[in-house]
Parts: sequence; structure tokens; C-alpha cells
Amino acid sequence: MSGERLRTYEGFPKSQRLVAIVVVLGVYLSGCGRVRSVKESSLLMGTVVEITVQHKDPTVAKKAIQHAFDEGKRIENLLSIYKKESEISMINLKAGLEEVKVSGDSLYVTEKALAYSELSDGAFDITVGPLIELWGFRNGEMKVPDKTEIEKTLALVNYKNVSINREKSTVRLEKPGMKIDLGGIAKGYAVDSMIGVLKSEGIKKAIVNAGGDIYALGNPAGKSNWEIGIRSPRNDSDIIDVIKVKNSAIATSGDYEKFFFEGGKRYSHIIDPRTGVPASGVTSVTVTAETATEADALATTLFVLGEEEGKKLIKQLENVEAFFDIEK
Ligand code: ADP
Ligand code: MG
Repeated sequence: MSGERLRTYEGFPKSQRLVAIVVVLGVYLSGCGRVRSVKESSLLMGTVVEITVQHKDPTVAKKAIQHAFDEGKRIENLLSIYKKESEISMINLKAGLEEVKVSGDSLYVTEKALAYSELSDGAFDITVGPLIELWGFRNGEMKVPDKTEIEKTLALVNYKNVSINREKSTVRLEKPGMKIDLGGIAKGYAVDSMIGVLKSEGIKKAIVNAGGDIYALGNPAGKSNWEIGIRSPRNDSDIIDVIKVKNSAIATSGDYEKFFFEGGKRYSHIIDPRTGVPASGVTSVTVTAETATEADALATTLFVLGEEEGKKLIKQLENVEAFFDIEK
């Protein structure tokens, strides 16, 4: 794969838009029957996580899957803002007061997130928490806030006010009221972590799919690549493109997962930290990258940046491709 390539699906009619939920195609028994596929799902991070493992011994596959789900749960308990006791919730609670000692996982994800903020000049910014709350995406009571409220809240949003001390393994938010929200990157990290567990259990062929944040490990028996179908949002059975992946991640950000309409306008849960208003223009963007953490963060980033700026950013990166669907 080259960073230069970038396919754009501007031509698709509205009824055939790319959709965030990608489906994994062709997970069957191998032709020779020696390798078996085991597929299980579990609810994690507010989404259905599906793990498919191919192995000759289903008992080994099942055990590995269980351990991977345990790992996903562990990551969720560290990173979720919906868990009061999570490390990220502690960081938010201590905003403007003190630094919080965190695990290597929280430190890593926070550092990665800040790197994507630097890379995108603030289009990706995990300190959007107060804006997410202001627009009602946290409690589900979505509404367009007053301009003055948006202005006030924007003062709390700036990734540069997140301080990390790697030696002490601490994170500190400089201003009271600041809040980190890892919704744009945590699922990807959880997927990578679950893949790590599968690998450590000797698994060589697997797919982890956390609601569209996917990593494809190895190749499926009898085929050289896993095939990920991208389907139309209006017609589930309509696969509009197939992306072939092997030891690679894929993630989608779209405007139809969490959104509301007001005054005939659609507002989605990805907010442009530069304006304080939900990003618009891109219907969905799918990214392939080497890790699910990167694919997840970049999909959210490109959704904010839009096609033109997004293309420029992708060109700087190796082994990353992006597929845009643009609102006409
Ligand atoms: P999904 O979680 O539906 O797969 P994304 O990966 O695109 O979708 O993440 C969207 C989430 O990212 C939002 O719900 C919010 O938690 C967070 N978020 C919103 N805007 C931004 C932003 N500009 N930068 C970083 N994270 C964001
Ligand atoms: Mg994302």
C-alpha cells in the first residue's frame, strides 16, 4: 500500500453511501477443513465486539477469544469516561488541581492522541469532552447550544493544556473544567490490545471488529487476504466496495452513528475543536493503517479536516489509505 493512493467516492448517489459498519466477508471453514473458524461477540465500550479466530483446535481458539475479551474489558475500565472509576475519569476529576498517576495503557493512548493533535493542528483533540457534553452527546439530550456557551466552552478545549510526565507516568489537565474524551481513539487501542492477546496465545489468523474498528491478523485459510465489505447505509445487503486486508487495520467515522437534526441540519458527534461545532461535509471516511489505534484516530481526524486537507495529511503518512464519502 502506498500513502499516495486515495480513493474518493464522490460519485456515489446518496442511497449508496459508505457506511460505518463494515462487514467481514467470507469467514468460512477452509477448503481442506483442517482450520476451523470460531466467532464470538461481546458488548464492550458500548459496542458489539466480534472476534473471529481460525485455528485447527476450536478449544484453543475459544480460550484465546475469552482472554482477548478480558483484555478489552480491562482497557474499557481504564479508558472509558462512562466509568466513574476509570483512570481517564480520575484525570478529568483532578483537572486544574493535580496530576494523576496512570497505567502504561492510559499514558500511551493519551500520548498517541496528542501526537494526532499535533499532526492535524488540533483537528483531532481529546479535550473536546466539554463540547461533547455541551451538545448533549454525553447524556443523549442533544441540542444546538447558544453561541456564547460554545465560546465559553471552547476556552477549555486545547490539547496543549494536557501535560504528560512519562517518567512519573502521570497526566495532568491544566485548567479546571477540562475533560478528556477518548471516544475517537480508545476503541482502536482496545482492538490492538485484543489482537496482542490473541497473538500471545499463538493465534495467527483472526479478525477483531469493534463496531467498525477492525484489525485483520494474518490471512484467512485458503485465501491471501481478509475481505472487508463496505456496505450501503440504506441497504444492508448492498456491498458497495470490498477492501482486502492482511495484518492491517481499518476504521470508519461517519455522521450517522450519533447525530440529531435541528432546523433541518444534521449535527453529528464529531466536533471541530476549532469552531466548537460538529464537523460537516464528510458523510463517512474509512481509513486503513498499520494499527487500529492509528486507523481510529485518523478516521476521526479526517472527518474533521474534510477531503482536501485530509488528503494532504494522508500523503505525509506511510501505509495509510483513506476512502472518503462526501456530502453533495
Ligand atoms: P465512533 O466512536 O462512532 O466509531 P469515532 O471514532 O469517529 O466514531 O469517534 C467519535 C468520538 O470521538 C466522539 O463520540 C467523541 O467521543 C470523540 N470526538 C469527537 N470529536 C473529536 C475530535 N475533534 N477529536 C477527537 N475526538 C473527538
Ligand atoms: Mg475514531
